[in-house]
Amino acid sequence: MNDDIPTGRKNAFADRYGSVFGRQQGLMLKMAGLASSECSASGPWIEDSAGARWLDFGSFGVHLLGHGHPQVAQALTAQAARMGLSSKILANEPIVAAAERLLALGGEPLDGIILANTGSEAVEAALKLARIATGRRRILAFRHAYHGRTPGALSVSHGYERHGALLTDGQSSFIEVGDLRAVEAALATGAYAAVIIEPVQGEGGIRPVTTAFLQALRELTRAHGVRFVLDEIQTGLGRTGQLVCPVAPDIRLLGKVLGGGMFPVAAALFDSAQFGAAARDPVVHASSFAGSPMAGAVVNAVLDVVTEPSFAPRVARLGERCRELIAERVGRHPTVAQVRGEGFMIGVEFKDMGDAGQMIIEAAKRKLLIAFCLTAPNVVRVYPPAVIDEPTLMDGIERFCASVAALPSRDPLPSKEPLANA
Ligand code: PLP
Repeated sequence: MNDDIPTGRKNAFADRYGSVFGRQQGLMLKMAGLASSECSASGPWIEDSAGARWLDFGSFGVHLLGHGHPQVAQALTAQAARMGLSSKILANEPIVAAAERLLALGGEPLDGIILANTGSEAVEAALKLARIATGRRRILAFRHAYHGRTPGALSVSHGYERHGALLTDGQSSFIEVGDLRAVEAALATGAYAAVIIEPVQGEGGIRPVTTAFLQALRELTRAHGVRFVLDEIQTGLGRTGQLVCPVAPDIRLLGKVLGGGMFPVAAALFDSAQFGAAARDPVVHASSFAGSPMAGAVVNAVLDVVTEPSFAPRVARLGERCRELIAERVGRHPTVAQVRGEGFMIGVEFKDMGDAGQMIIEAAKRKLLIAFCLTAPNVVRVYPPAVIDEPTLMDGIERFCASVAALPSRDPLPSKEPLANA
């Protein structure tokens, strides 16, 4: 660990950050011990301007391939030297090849694709396709869901009604995951265009959804002529230990890992038979930047890596080991409520939000980068990159457990008996 850089200099950087991005944000960086500037990165490691090395177990799900993956970097730089963004008039080979491969990965009956630059944009495309194809307006989502920050995506993200969501006038509704009866009652109204769900709810607190529930949603949506959207932007391409969810949707969304940690790319793969004229409209969703040769080159390199036969099974195996280790080491710590997740998508739920916040600070002291879930800030996520070697992975888990152990115990004598006169 390198703590040589004077605190004053670190704080000056955080102050500059705060002056352009918000004072509160600058203060938070300082308080959390995260006031240094990241400047280079390789694999699971980030180096800051003072030369300190941070182990990156955070990155909001983007860096499953770590930083600077050599195959992705090579593809990106070689393509950049040839051609960067598209003319949008001529088509390009890298993106066509990438689209063909993504559709093969997405599985039957997906045969159409919209490329986007961010996950939120892919969500917007999915909502738009479903509304145009069905002529209906409402979207059914779930409690603890998160689908992005653009206004349409916010409208199907639980708890964001006052953050600029567009469909607030009763056009989106949120049902508890598992409550099939409520789903059926809603769909029977004939008002819904789509149901959207994540196979593991990420920002809502790392909550795995059972395959049986997803399959039941598939059947119910089909029975009611409603489009079924699986948002695999955070879970897809190996994060959970499998490349895609085994249930066949009408639209499958991918993002985050798709960019290989280097280039923003997302995609909506769809079953054109379900979307009529909207599916045939080449500009139903369009973007100046999306579908570029650069994006194509990156996606092809990412697919080369994640479709290696050992890639996803290794994440599944090591993820289970990490989850078990964390549960064994700190699962009974008085601040911890539960350890859960799939693959390298692990969540540790703290009983108190303050402890989760303190955890980020303790981890920063140990040069481990972790983050909490956006809408469940009492849940801290452990997201190692898949490219990590086992000793470094265990080193990170050790730093994580040591950080939990360093938390002050708020409730040293847990009692099941209610306190008299409390
Ligand atoms: N959908 C899910 C499940 C996500 O987790 C996220 C981001 O965290 C998004 C959509 C939005 O993606 P982006 O941040 O690339 O817009």
